[in-house]
Amino acid sequence: MAQKFDEAEDRLFGDIYICRKCNAKNKTDNPEETSCRKCGYSNLRHKNEQFAG
Ligand SMILES: [Zn+2]
Repeated sequence: MAQKFDEAEDRLFGDIYICRKCNAKNKTDNPEETSCRKCGYSNLRHKNEQFAG
């Protein structure tokens, strides 16, 4: 039940950021000061941000 809720949250909330290195999802309010929880890389992009642009 909790896991399904988490997936729904992913779609509903906008504060999901993708690591530019390993593409792991990171949920944070301030990506500027957040490093990837998986690899520690600090360059994150917003989930909805396009690569080109
Ligand atoms: Zn990463």
